[in-house]
Amino acid sequence: MQPDVAQESPESFRDAIATVDAQGKRVWIYPKKPKGRYYTARKWATAVFVALFLVMPFIKIDGEPFLLLNVLERKFVLFGVVFGPQDFHLFMLVMLTFLVFIILFTVVYGRLFCGWVCPQTVFMEMIFRRIEYAIEGDAGEQRRLDQMPWTAEKIGKKALKHGIFFAIAVVVSNYFLAYIIGMDRVLRIIGEPLSEHWVGFLSMLAFSGVFYFVFARLREQVCTTICPYGRLQGVLLVKDSIVVAYDFVRGEPRAKLRKNKSATLSSAETRLQQTEPATGAARREAGDCIDCKVCVAVCPTAIDIRNGTQLECINCTACIDACDQVMDKIGRPRGLIRYDSMTGIESGRRRIFTPRVLGYTAVLLALIALDIALLTGRGVVETIILRSPGQTYQKKDSLHLTNLYTFTLINKANRDLPVRLQLASPAGTIQVVGQPVERLAKGQVYKGAFFVELEKSQLQGRKTPVVIEVWSGEQKIDEVKTAFMGPGKR
Ligand code: SF4
Ligand code: SF4
Repeated sequence: MQPDVAQESPESFRDAIATVDAQGKRVWIYPKKPKGRYYTARKWATAVFVALFLVMPFIKIDGEPFLLLNVLERKFVLFGVVFGPQDFHLFMLVMLTFLVFIILFTVVYGRLFCGWVCPQTVFMEMIFRRIEYAIEGDAGEQRRLDQMPWTAEKIGKKALKHGIFFAIAVVVSNYFLAYIIGMDRVLRIIGEPLSEHWVGFLSMLAFSGVFYFVFARLREQVCTTICPYGRLQGVLLVKDSIVVAYDFVRGEPRAKLRKNKSATLSSAETRLQQTEPATGAARREAGDCIDCKVCVAVCPTAIDIRNGTQLECINCTACIDACDQVMDKIGRPRGLIRYDSMTGIESGRRRIFTPRVLGYTAVLLALIALDIALLTGRGVVETIILRSPGQTYQKKDSLHLTNLYTFTLINKANRDLPVRLQLASPAGTIQVVGQPVERLAKGQVYKGAFFVELEKSQLQGRKTPVVIEVWSGEQKIDEVKTAFMGPGKR
């Protein structure tokens, strides 16, 4: 009998990665088709995710897309609110809070995102992989198909699978493009003559090729070697992080299940039986893990979760479902592999919502609230007023002085706005040079100049504070403080 290397040296699993052989060649993974309560829940989560992904590019708020990340033209739309280059500070602030959110979320909930929401996992495991199972069968049949010569059956199955893969890649890439340049432009590229949209068409083709390659060939390599979030796990996870974890206290020492074994209880079983009623299953000396390796067989990154948390683990929950079924069969309680923290497993207390988790969750919610407040509290018009460079003051007559200012008005609203400038304090007048600004079109950036005229009696010295308001109809929409230069005290 071959010695079990993993048992001889508990750390030997670190010497190699499951997807590369000793010669450095890629090892193709054939994960067994998962089934169970988590897999069913993930199917529903996928349905919601895909529905949102497909519908969102068509949703518009006041004529603007619900979500647009146009990095090419530096235009971003979040929840229908347009952010232009002038909002960069706000955008960066939102991104920073988002970064903090990701860090805190990972510290508390581990890689929950990877398993349930990450587009790579959702598309790979819940769409492309399921199509593969439907056409080529489960892991064993897939392996046999790949090893057999190129018969008509193999050519037919491979052609069908890759044809569907490429068709989905085209749809997915078009949608991703819609999130960058907007669905209207994507539909124009599709609907109008090719000669008018060469660049757009080639971008779509390139995107489709990349997506097809990612899901047909690259697969788990994205998560295990490319994704930066995956690489960060080593520094983000703590002992209290909730991850997909193997209960080694209950499971070890692992041993194959043998019939008619003596009925002595292990310490782990004793602890379990104190908390749970006996199921009537055959008692044994070893822990609950029967070393069946079903949890490894279903893993899309081919790792053994019994070796502990590893960066290749995308928290897909397939091993939880697989092990639960094994536990059902041998009459042991479910949850030998489960969502838990290292602290929870070591202490034997299954308590996910600890005060620390609740505290971090409160901070996460506060960050979300801050982001919402930042986004919704943004003014509809941004006003920049500067004193005209190289100018001090002009005498209009013996009683009045004027200062010249330049101004910029940016309409950030999703509609045209009537606007007017008004001097709020001190008492005086504003005279716009040339045509006074009356209306700002949606997204318009208006530049102009105006004089502020004050009586000498209003001056407070060399610099007098001045407040200028921007009104739209009966509503004040912005206010700017600046200074009026005078001769000073003599
Ligand atoms: S499926 Fe459960 S019992 Fe089987 S090897 Fe994995 S942890 Fe052990
Ligand atoms: S170890 Fe389990 S949760 Fe992690 S990737 Fe493998 S099957 Fe998914």
